[in-house]
Amino acid sequence: MTDDCTTVAKLRGLVAEFVAARQWECYHDPKNLSMSIAIEAAELMEHFQWVRSEELDQVLQDGDRRAQIVDELADVACYVIALTNVLGVDLSSALAEKVRKNALKYPAEKFQGRYFKPAD
Ligand SMILES: [Mg+2]
Repeated sequence: MTDDCTTVAKLRGLVAEFVAARQWECYHDPKNLSMSIAIEAAELMEHFQWVRSEELDQVLQDGDRRAQIVDELADVACYVIALTNVLGVDLSSALAEKVRKNALKYPAEKFQGRYFKPAD
């Protein structure tokens, strides 16, 4: 299963099957899932806490550490997908709409190579 040949629908089905097989639907309400996203995001951030910018490449080249980071990233994605399932949101449409809004908010010609708003 790789990004090249996997649809969001397939991922949604995978997560839904996992949840249903354990009868965890009762725990998967929007409050719990949104909190779980934040908790897993914090676990992801822990791997970078106190790491200086110049040390990031070294951290990411450490096989064990990278595997743990990927694991936490997948945890975040699992909960995002689970919340998508619970809310009945079309994630692809929502993401495309957000990118469209961000493109208007941050026009490429004004934000080329910078994340802050230039002085008018
Ligand atoms: Mg985790």
